[in-house]
Amino acid sequence: MRTYKAIDAHIHVDSYGEADRQAMLQQAFASGIQAVIAVSMHLESSKVNEQLARQFPGRVHPAYGFHPEQPILPIEEREELFAWIRAKHAEGEAFAIGEVGLPYYSRSAAVEEGLPFNEEPYLDLLDRFALLASELNRPIVLHAVHEDGAKACDIMERHQVKKVHFHWFKGDEATVERMIRLGYMISVTPDVAYENEIRSLVERYPLEQLMAETDGPWPFEGPYEGKMTVPEMVHDVAAHIAAIKQLPEKEVREQLLRNTREFYAL
Ligand SMILES: [Zn+2]
Repeated sequence: MRTYKAIDAHIHVDSYGEADRQAMLQQAFASGIQAVIAVSMHLESSKVNEQLARQFPGRVHPAYGFHPEQPILPIEEREELFAWIRAKHAEGEAFAIGEVGLPYYSRSAAVEEGLPFNEEPYLDLLDRFALLASELNRPIVLHAVHEDGAKACDIMERHQVKKVHFHWFKGDEATVERMIRLGYMISVTPDVAYENEIRSLVERYPLEQLMAETDGPWPFEGPYEGKMTVPEMVHDVAAHIAAIKQLPEKEVREQLLRNTREFYAL
C-alpha cells in the first residue's frame, strides 16, 4: 500500500477490538496517515475515543455524539451526554460533534416490515446537537442519507451551523446542489471503487468540499472483500477521486488533506 500523507475523516476506532485497534493505528501512522477523525456511537464510545485521543495526541481527533441508527437514548442519558460534551468544551479539548444524524436505515427497515417508526425524537435530538455545535462553534459529523439529507440541511440552516460534514453521503440532485451551495463537506469511502452512485457524486461535488474516509470497521466489497478496513484505504479513495475528476493524483491527495485539516482545525 502507498504511504502518502492523508487523513481518514471518519472511522469508528473504538469499534475495533483492543489489540486490533492499537496495531492498526500504529501501522496507519507509520504509513503516512497523519490523523484519524474518531467518531463516537454514544457516551461510552465517546469516553474510549477521548482516551485514544490522549494516547495519540494530534493523531486521533475525537468526535463526540450519538449515532442515529440505534434505539433513541432516554432523556437522562441524553442530558448526561450533553453535560459531558460541555465539560470537554470547558476543558478546552479539541473535538467535533458526531456521529449524529437521522436513522434512515432503521426507519426504512421498519417501514419495509410494516412496523411503526417514530422519527420525531431523532429529529429533536439532531436539533439539540445542531444547537450545541453552533453554540460551541464545533464541526458536526452527520449520518443523514437520501431523503434525510434535506431534513438535516433544514436543521443545520436553522441553527446556522457553519462546519457541516455529511459522511458517506448519497442523495438526490436538489439536496446535493443545496449542500454545495451551503459549503457543506462530504466524505467518500472505499466504495467509490465500485459504486456508480458514489462515482457520479464525486464527479459532481467540488474537490474543495471533499474528504476521504473509511467508516471502519465497516467492511467493503469489490477489491476489499474479506479485508479488514484500515485507515490506509483512504489512499485508494484519493486515487479514485483523481481518476474520476481526471486530475493529477498528487493534486487531489494534497487538496483532500488540506480540506480535512482546515475543516477539523488539525
Ligand atoms: Zn460512521
